[in-house]
Amino acid sequence: CGIVGAVSSRNIVPILVQGLQRLEYRGYDSCGVAVHAASLGGTGGLQRARSTSRVAELMDQVSADHIEGGTGIAHTRWATHGAPAVHNAHPHFSHGTGAADTKPGKVALVHNGIIENHEELRAALQAKGYVFSSQTDTEVIAHLVDSVYDGDIFEAVKTALRQLHGAYAIAVFHKDEPQRVIGARAGSPLILGVGQGETFLASDAMALAGVTDQIVYLEEGDVVDIQLGKYWVVDREHKAVTRVVKTVHAHS
Ligand code: GLU
Repeated sequence: CGIVGAVSSRNIVPILVQGLQRLEYRGYDSCGVAVHAASLGGTGGLQRARSTSRVAELMDQVSADHIEGGTGIAHTRWATHGAPAVHNAHPHFSHGTGAADTKPGKVALVHNGIIENHEELRAALQAKGYVFSSQTDTEVIAHLVDSVYDGDIFEAVKTALRQLHGAYAIAVFHKDEPQRVIGARAGSPLILGVGQGETFLASDAMALAGVTDQIVYLEEGDVVDIQLGKYWVVDREHKAVTRVVKTVHAHS
């Protein structure tokens, strides 16, 4: 339903959660946020909070658990596959192979839309040993990205997308690359926000009102690599492209 993502050198959790609040009016059944705890220079890996309550309660949970990071993604979910429940709420983590609770995730991912071939992909990933912890179509993307990852999350996402059928906007990051978020869109909107030394993704420019008014409307098939103060866009053929940055006055 709604996506917000960021790579920054300040704690980005309040911006991500406020972004979700600006998208709340669209409706949702659950919400969540994941950050890379090491992205602000500390130690630690992926941290996550998810809730079937209001976004305001997600913020309380995040504060109570001291979840902070400069790199992160957030989501409001409108369930299509799998009941509205905390374990089905995004972000989803890949688990590598082995029991889900003994092999903590390396890939964190949020998704809007529907993956049509999720059953075949799930069967193939389970045959490789991946353990699923949700009933969503989304979780297959997290494991698929993990299964093709070879040190470069941008390359892994581009490779994984070739196997996906359906409609999606996604935002994803990897434990081994703390200051990088990859976005992609095909059939669902995704925009990029250009800040001062920080870069954002969102399903709607309104999510970034008051944060940045410098917006790139990504085109169908685009894949984007956002980092601290820089970004790269490739088109549906994965050729490097330049997209126009527009000044957008979104109302909060
Ligand atoms: N199909 C996904 C799910 O059910 C994403 C739904 C959405 O767009 O929020 O989890």
